[in-house]
Amino acid sequence: METYDLIILGGGLAGMCAAVEAGEAGAHVLLLEKEDELGGSTVLSSGYMAFAGTDMQEQAGIIDSTEYLLEDMIEVGGGVNDQELVEAYGQQQLATYTWLNEHGVEFRSLEAVSGHSVPRGHIIDPHQAIQTLNQRVKQLTNVTIRLNAPARRLLKNDDGRIDRVLYEVDGEERTAHASKGVIIASGGFAKSEELLGQFAPQLKGALRIGGRGNHGEGIRMACEHGAWLKDLPYLNGTYGFHPTAAGPVKSQGLAFYKGAIMVNELGKRFVNESISYKLLGKAAFEQPDQVSFQVWDQTVMDKSVYDDPLYDLELLKRRRLLYQADTLEDLADCIDVPLEVLEETISRYNQGVADGEDPDFGRKSLTHNYGKPTPIENAPFYAFESTVAMLATYAGVSVNTKAQVVNPYGEPILGLFAAGEVTGGFHGAGYMTGSSLGKCAVFGRIAVQEALKEVIVK
Ligand SMILES: Cc1cc2nc3c(=O)[nH]c(=O)nc-3n(C[C@H](O)[C@H](O)[C@H](O)COP(=O)(O)OP(=O)(O)OC[C@H]3O[C@@H](n4cnc5c(N)ncnc54)[C@H](O)[C@@H]3O)c2cc1C
Repeated sequence: METYDLIILGGGLAGMCAAVEAGEAGAHVLLLEKEDELGGSTVLSSGYMAFAGTDMQEQAGIIDSTEYLLEDMIEVGGGVNDQELVEAYGQQQLATYTWLNEHGVEFRSLEAVSGHSVPRGHIIDPHQAIQTLNQRVKQLTNVTIRLNAPARRLLKNDDGRIDRVLYEVDGEERTAHASKGVIIASGGFAKSEELLGQFAPQLKGALRIGGRGNHGEGIRMACEHGAWLKDLPYLNGTYGFHPTAAGPVKSQGLAFYKGAIMVNELGKRFVNESISYKLLGKAAFEQPDQVSFQVWDQTVMDKSVYDDPLYDLELLKRRRLLYQADTLEDLADCIDVPLEVLEETISRYNQGVADGEDPDFGRKSLTHNYGKPTPIENAPFYAFESTVAMLATYAGVSVNTKAQVVNPYGEPILGLFAAGEVTGGFHGAGYMTGSSLGKCAVFGRIAVQEALKEVIVK
């Protein structure tokens, strides 16, 4: 039987950070990746990572700290996130940012996105990140990556410790032994109709966008050995995708965080647009026929950010996905909403902006506590039909601060660790942009550090 110190399941950001960390610590490692390439959902992502107190923020004159970051995370999570996991993130976040930098992961720029009181979305090119980590792995002769090698089951020894992985390669079943532990980093289940049907039937009509290997197999493998699950009631889609985005061109735009409003097919607003785009997705799905539009003016359009994954509004225009009109009358006609209702909606919203008091939904900022809304009055006007996509599931196996998978009583399942999107508990009821890629890197490394500390008594 093949024998390793650690076996890592999945080659997205969590798995690749774990592989580098373990390899550099001298461990003998096998990483199994089900697909024919590394990257999973990570390489489809917008690349925002939530860090605070960084040199990039300092250079941009942004005042932030771990404390503010954690406060925002808990607020966005509705206070039901596992506070110990959030604190563990806080303790490691800055060191992880530095570690990524030192390993050649490039941070391009900063933006404020969902749940940020200040700009703290540090943007990476996720392909560059995975390739860079993979280059490092190739230098480490003690780490083996095996593609097209799905893990199927985990096996326990007589002491109840997970110590083997049953996997497939070239149609052949193999067993590999892990003396220090198995780290599940197999991502979420955004591509499993079966699990989404069971756990999130309310998202039936949502687009599915995610790594093609993400079917929740890691969750099943952990559950077989008694893992508890967390955050299932908070499964939500993400708002801001064009209805065609599940195809090859994944057009997404978050004009609402730059000052757009959201209206339904009746021409009415229905939500405070500054809240988490997960919660916006929930609200949008409750609208008649689940139809909604982001509506903005030239003042908002002028805030378009070239080449930004979420804020390049001009790109949406070049892709001919926007309706543009010189008058509200023409815009209402384009999107087929009643003109008088749309005019009343915008005039009431503008009055609220002038009064500093949104009478209907209490909007005070652009996103979370950041930025001031502006009136929608400066032609031309724009509308972007938007819908909800299930991108990332963020509900999964329960872990403690050592990234050990735990049972319903909070007791560790010996030898079993998990990191990244396969885990639940960290985000709670809402998600701050960048905290998912962030937690992959933070807990991928923690899982390795803790597993390698284990002294196995025979
Ligand atoms: C369009 C989009 C935009 C996003 N934008 C952001 C963002 O800006 N910021 C942010 O923080 N988050 C974002 N997310 C979420 C984030 O990308 C994911 O949560 C994160 O990348 C998950 O990383 P991971 O390593 O846990 O899993 P993944 O990157 O999904 O990797 C898991 C890997 O495990 C493999 N695997 C699955 N089952 C098995 C098995 N049985 N055996 C072996 N291998 C297996 C998969 O094939 C996959 O390669 C976005 C997601 C999407 C889809």
